[in-house]
Amino acid sequence: METAELVIVGCGPAGATAAREAARAGIHSVVLEKDAIVGAKRVCAAGLRPGFCSEFDLPREIVHFDTPRLALFDANGGEHVLRFGPGHTSTREELDGTIARLAREEGAEIRTQALFRDLVREDGDLVVEYADLTEGVRKRIKARTVFLAQGATAVLDRPPLHYAQWRDGLMTTLQYRVYLDRPAIPVTYETLEMHYYLGRQGRQIVGWMFPKKDHLAIGLGVIGKMEGTALRAELDALTERIASRLYPQCGVIRRKVEGHLLYMGAPRPVLNADGVMLGGTAAGLVDATNGEGIYEAAMSGRLAVEALLAHRDAPRRAALRYAAGVKRRFVGRLRRRLKLMHFLERQPQRFGILFAQLATTPGLPQILHGETRRRTLRDRAVLYVQMLKFLYKAA
Ligand SMILES: Cc1cc2nc3c(=O)[nH]c(=O)nc-3n(C[C@H](O)[C@H](O)[C@H](O)COP(=O)(O)OP(=O)(O)OC[C@H]3O[C@@H](n4cnc5c(N)ncnc54)[C@H](O)[C@@H]3O)c2cc1C
Repeated sequence: METAELVIVGCGPAGATAAREAARAGIHSVVLEKDAIVGAKRVCAAGLRPGFCSEFDLPREIVHFDTPRLALFDANGGEHVLRFGPGHTSTREELDGTIARLAREEGAEIRTQALFRDLVREDGDLVVEYADLTEGVRKRIKARTVFLAQGATAVLDRPPLHYAQWRDGLMTTLQYRVYLDRPAIPVTYETLEMHYYLGRQGRQIVGWMFPKKDHLAIGLGVIGKMEGTALRAELDALTERIASRLYPQCGVIRRKVEGHLLYMGAPRPVLNADGVMLGGTAAGLVDATNGEGIYEAAMSGRLAVEALLAHRDAPRRAALRYAAGVKRRFVGRLRRRLKLMHFLERQPQRFGILFAQLATTPGLPQILHGETRRRTLRDRAVLYVQMLKFLYKAA
């Protein structure tokens, strides 16, 4: 049977980053990706946090716009502008495609049209089974370590990785790529917009507008399922509101519609098992307040390789070290984000209170958006005081 030191399932930001960093460190990895072209089918708004490209050594060509403005729209449609960043916008065909290309150039083996099927233990070894969709045959690889990063649709139904609450965190999303006959008003291209409001059925909607070179990505998501026509009507209503502010004079040449699942629940409680590591959105590493998961995914790929390098001859210890690293870095913060989102949703006017506070308190958005481990004592004190202020007003 074919053997590999590391098998990676999924070539999104988590899998592709792991493959690239493994190749750089001299670890032989095989990546299994079900799609024919990496990134081409990913539905995403592809907003990247400030510094993403330099953090992951990616070329600036993938950046469409640097966006110093974040406009948060509250439940009444009130706009609150925060300045930080600049963040970037890109597309997933460029982002995932570029990381995968660089990984290949540095020695990773990426197999497309390779559909992961199962992971079993045989005589103490991990064996990954996949369907080779070009040849129509099932193949097997013996692996020392496996990094599972197949995104929100990951099926992990065996213990210990199985998580009964996973389905409760799945969000249905729908997005238009709106192609205009001329540019929208200039502020559009400096801004990431996020909208938080109750939809026509009284359900919490999170919407967005992210500018790209040749189109605007306008989309929304709702936790759980929503019937297709109702979801489309919600998106049409949001698009109309955005159109009247940002491109009232423009004609729409084309509107491409795309949808996918996004996970917005709590991170999975178990992130490793017996030489297997779970990364990116498959591990539930998504910020429930804004849907950001690309940074967390890429970082989980990096942490997986760092753990493997620290315990190259002991895959189980590497997986343990990985899980501890991800928990320290992300899990506490992401759980707090989910709690905050639930708190805001219980009384939607709280969104406006929070956004007004963020917009008028210098430095607060940066502290909140930064990683917990990088916070200074002063940052923590500021956060504490601001939290008390917010709770007082929200109450
Ligand atoms: C509509 C929408 C908008 C979003 N906007 C943003 C945003 O603006 N900013 C942000 O940071 N995050 C955003 N996200 C979240 C972001 O897309 C994810 O957090 C991120 O893609 C996670 O990366 P990943 O590598 O873990 O998984 P994915 O990017 O989902 O990649 C998983 C890969 O695994 C492959 N795969 C799946 N199953 C199999 C299988 N059985 N066999 C082989 N391969 C398989 C898939 O084809 C895919 O290539 C958005 C998500 C959605 C749905």
